[in-house]
Amino acid sequence: MSLVVMKFGGTSVEDPAAIRRTAAIVAGRVAQGKQPIVVVSAMAKVTDQLLRAAAIAAEGDRTGALAISSRLRSRHRDTAAALVADSGALVDRIDLKFDSLDEILRGLSAILELTPRVSDLIVSFGELFSSRIVAAAFREQGINTVHVDSRQIIITDSQFQKAIPQDDLIEERVPKKLLPLLAAGQVPVMGGFIASNQAGISTTLGRGGSDFTAALIGGALRAEAIEIWTDVDGIMTADPRVCPDALRVKVISFEEAAELAYFGAKVLHPATILPAVKKNIPVLVLNSRNAACEGTRIISLPPHCKSPFKSIAVKKKLSIIDVVASRMLMTHGYMKDIFDIFDKHECPVDMVSTSEVSVSLTVDSNEKLPSIAADLGQLADVKYEGKKALVCLVGDDIRGQSGMAAQVFNAIRHINVRMISQGASEINMSFMIDEDDADEAVRSLHAAFFQDPDPAIFDVDARKTK
Ligand code: ADP
Ligand code: ASP
Ligand code: MG
Repeated sequence: MSLVVMKFGGTSVEDPAAIRRTAAIVAGRVAQGKQPIVVVSAMAKVTDQLLRAAAIAAEGDRTGALAISSRLRSRHRDTAAALVADSGALVDRIDLKFDSLDEILRGLSAILELTPRVSDLIVSFGELFSSRIVAAAFREQGINTVHVDSRQIIITDSQFQKAIPQDDLIEERVPKKLLPLLAAGQVPVMGGFIASNQAGISTTLGRGGSDFTAALIGGALRAEAIEIWTDVDGIMTADPRVCPDALRVKVISFEEAAELAYFGAKVLHPATILPAVKKNIPVLVLNSRNAACEGTRIISLPPHCKSPFKSIAVKKKLSIIDVVASRMLMTHGYMKDIFDIFDKHECPVDMVSTSEVSVSLTVDSNEKLPSIAADLGQLADVKYEGKKALVCLVGDDIRGQSGMAAQVFNAIRHINVRMISQGASEINMSFMIDEDDADEAVRSLHAAFFQDPDPAIFDVDARKTK
């Protein structure tokens, strides 16, 4: 069997026209003799709106929360009716689900508390609705489709909102459920992002987690490829919303793609690459609005790139914590004490830089910062500052190229740099600046480093035709 996992993000299922395009892409793969397994996100913006409804319900705004739900109900009903001729049963099912969502929102507005567990239950409706509608639309287009509830096969621990997949259970359940369907010539359609713990309680894999679902399914089935269909031509040399000159990267390594995702390139969820790497399954990033474009191929050994960098990523909403103590001079065990505090608060650290008497660390801005700072205050003087951004340049051999740091900092010489790191990784160089300077920094770096890009790696023809 030539299995391919096809994941369609929110914009690829945002309205009837997008869903029809998606159906045509999947039908095209079937016509090529492939066996697709389709993973879909919630319709665009639905997850944000569900989270907003939950938040305001828990603040007591019952009317506001129900109004959001009512708008979502109309959007989903209208989409179903536009795509399926005989949509009565589907619309009834959507209505029933919205009735239970409304019950939950009313309950929240009475108890005025939103737990991570209830938040996951509420957001799970987004992928449940979209996957049902997409499955029905595919059937309408003549694709032999079967809907699969991902919560039966993607099993996680109970860390709601960022649950960890249980690989052994997934490796067992995914083939058991999907292989017979595939053998019968059916195309399974399932929601991404949502999962359940072993007790059957709904969990989610973290924002953007549908990519992760696709990778888990692809890994468990040893698929031939994992395709991530989105709203841009592939992985670009920078976020095209920030840098309109960004070029498509034709081919990139697993390590480079993982680094980009981890350092903020929203086009891929950071955990997506791991299951693919373990089984050496190529991942393709493709555009559902421009299906003819060959996208980006993420593989283990891409050809050598003559340009120094492949792409620039930015991670915003970070804070810098400066820890200064003269006591640190000539002592040992100090770093351990500092990291123990971050560990205690379960707060991951992105970047560290040290001098003899000070340590600067960067973390996602979060509500734990005041208590982390208070604990660190027991050891040393502590200051923290938010609204920072980490800019990360990724390329295959940065360390091997002399003078590179000078060129990078020359390109952004008008911008104040707070922290720099070019450590163990040979493929990344990153630095920290004010969030307000981030877009400008990306554009300046892009102009400096992508003047004359290697045509073997980048789609330079697109620039010529612009
Ligand atoms: P989906 O809903 O399909 O998962 P996302 O919004 O999560 O889509 O990711 C696609 C978006 O990622 C693009 O619209 C683009 O603005 C953004 N993006 C950020 N960095 C990059 C990059 N290096 N290459 C391509 N897209 C990027
Ligand atoms: N719908 C979820 C989100 O918006 C998951 C995803 O789209 O990947 O985060
Ligand atoms: Mg995404």
